[in-house]
Amino acid sequence: MKILVTNDDGILSDGLWALAKELKSIAQVVVVAPDREQSAIGTAVTLSHPLRIQKVKPMVPETEAYSVQGTPADSVILALEKLVKNEIDLVISGINQGLNLGNDVLISGTVGAALQGYLRGFPAIAISVSPMDSPYLSDVAKVAALLAERIHSAALPANTFLNVNLPDLPLSEIKGVNVTRLAGESHIDTVEEGHDGKRQYYWLVRQKMDRSSDDMTDIKAIEQGYISITPLHAYLGNKPSLPATDGLYSGLLQRLQKNQG
Ligand code: MN
Repeated sequence: MKILVTNDDGILSDGLWALAKELKSIAQVVVVAPDREQSAIGTAVTLSHPLRIQKVKPMVPETEAYSVQGTPADSVILALEKLVKNEIDLVISGINQGLNLGNDVLISGTVGAALQGYLRGFPAIAISVSPMDSPYLSDVAKVAALLAERIHSAALPANTFLNVNLPDLPLSEIKGVNVTRLAGESHIDTVEEGHDGKRQYYWLVRQKMDRSSDDMTDIKAIEQGYISITPLHAYLGNKPSLPATDGLYSGLLQRLQKNQG
């Protein structure tokens, strides 16, 4: 098995190398990650300037590593198009130090990187843990390795795209594994305002997850001490329109053409 490992916390992240170290025991590991931290950059790709790749000394022996002057998604695209090409079985993005739950998956660079693997036909996992300085990175990496082995041995289809989050607990205290759905809420929805002596400033703030949601959500699973596994897909716009919105569009073109005339 050959695994592409990437992240959005950058090539120097402890989470990235904890993951690479564990995966090395079950697979050939190639690390391709941004040269700096780019959390919350989402699915961004770079089109405005050329990208550069640098082969770097891996922090785990017997792995191969490259840093990319670009986004997490850029890293995966370059890896799959130029570095490892199609000779890969799985893409794993993480271990992100910070949870990626609910609507926040849409801004997550960790998920954004995994998405590129999935869109290009490879099984993909995004894996995250709380808090920023988690003492349990090696435990989280073991979860990733186990999932990787199972995905590989079961030959799960290429449209396997999992968002995995672990609570801030040692493995012995984790209550179980819940297959969840995304909570319909974000925890980055607060703005703090202040004055630095010269100018007004604003911080977009991560709020504590203290709102209630139903038991099947990823946020609830983490709050209750479970590992959350959310199967994701990218079918944002493939649902037919809702009857309630049909009135928005009827006669739209005729109205525009009439105004023009
Ligand atoms: Mn991050």
